[in-house]
Amino acid sequence: MGKYHTQSIKGEKCLICENNKLEGIHLFQSFICMDCEREIVNTKTSDPKYQFFVYQMGKARILQERRQA
Ligand SMILES: [Zn+2]
Repeated sequence: MGKYHTQSIKGEKCLICENNKLEGIHLFQSFICMDCEREIVNTKTSDPKYQFFVYQMGKARILQERRQA
């Protein structure tokens, strides 16, 4: 015993930027930080960056399907 802080607040690992963030949304049981979520919303579908987001989110879907199998 004697430990007052067994766990520090780390947040969750963001699916897109792969950083640990405290605030964000959950998508397909994965986590997307507020910064990335805002960027996705502001990125046009014609932007090549959007494809990157789609790809990263696709990974989440694959992971979830594996988990259910
Ligand atoms: Zn992020």
